[in-house]
Amino acid sequence: MGWSLNIGRLFGIPIKIHFSLFILLGFLLLASSSAGSGLYGVLIAVLLFGSVTAHELGHALVARRYGVDTKEIVLLPIGGAALLSRNPDEPKQELLIAIAGPVVSLVLSGLAFLAWQAVALTVLADLFFVNLVLGLFNLVPAFPMDGGRVLRAGLANWMGNMRATRVAAKLGRLVAVAFMVIAVVYSEIILGFIGAFIFFAATAEERAAIIQNIVGLRRVTDLMQPTPAILGAGATVADAIAGFASSPGVAALPVAFGTHVLGVVHRGDAEGVPSPDEHMVNELVDRNVVTHDGDAPLMELLTRMGQSRSRAAVVTAANEVVGIVTLDRVLEEIRAARHAEF
Ligand SMILES: [Zn+2]
Repeated sequence: MGWSLNIGRLFGIPIKIHFSLFILLGFLLLASSSAGSGLYGVLIAVLLFGSVTAHELGHALVARRYGVDTKEIVLLPIGGAALLSRNPDEPKQELLIAIAGPVVSLVLSGLAFLAWQAVALTVLADLFFVNLVLGLFNLVPAFPMDGGRVLRAGLANWMGNMRATRVAAKLGRLVAVAFMVIAVVYSEIILGFIGAFIFFAATAEERAAIIQNIVGLRRVTDLMQPTPAILGAGATVADAIAGFASSPGVAALPVAFGTHVLGVVHRGDAEGVPSPDEHMVNELVDRNVVTHDGDAPLMELLTRMGQSRSRAAVVTAANEVVGIVTLDRVLEEIRAARHAEF
């Protein structure tokens, strides 16, 4: 999210302002000709932040009801974002969390309208308008905007999560392109930014959802290649090549000293060595590997591999080396599943 300033907590959730919003505020102050209208601009800006915060709190508090925490709420020039710690378990929960924000905005808009009818203050009319736009704009069915999430959750009930995500993301990109075309035709720069943001966010969310779908329910052993051969620290490259010959399809072999895992040797590395008898496997060991329990969720292992940028992991069961997971194989699996599902 880049640099942002913590301005406090509401309901225990940190509220942050992204630095670009300060630039916009300064611009508002400078752009106004007189000090009076400048101050009014700041007042409107504060009302806008307040309205966006209320909208995001709507998402966050409904999410909390379903046991999903919110890490932080970030206020951006084009709206806000409540960063949830994880995705909700069921489509119905996602739907209610997504719709809560626009509902808060529309209720606030209605209240401001009633107050404006009672007391004719311009500020109330602005509050009415700002919240109406916030509520309606977010309901545009462009994933990952709220309306797109509502659509995805609704579709997931009868076409499954994966297809629903694809359809919602496609529609999201379509709306994004429409926004960008309108932005160019009417010289609306901000709408163009929003369109570009939606376009890339829709694709990123789609990818994350696909990976979650493929990886989410699996255990490490589901993607593991069993390794019959474990190389000792004193093995030669020729031993490794022999090991690969007896385990076709295995992309890497573990190198261990007793129960202590030193790393792995990749098949390509071993096969590329001229006169393998004269070289020790030690020279080829990829030591940047993760050792992980086979019973653990696959996502847990991939997160660890991602953090340490490892290409391979050694899988253990009851402290014994039982197999290997390589990044190439995981990616291959994801690619295959993507094609199969749609
Ligand atoms: Zn929202």
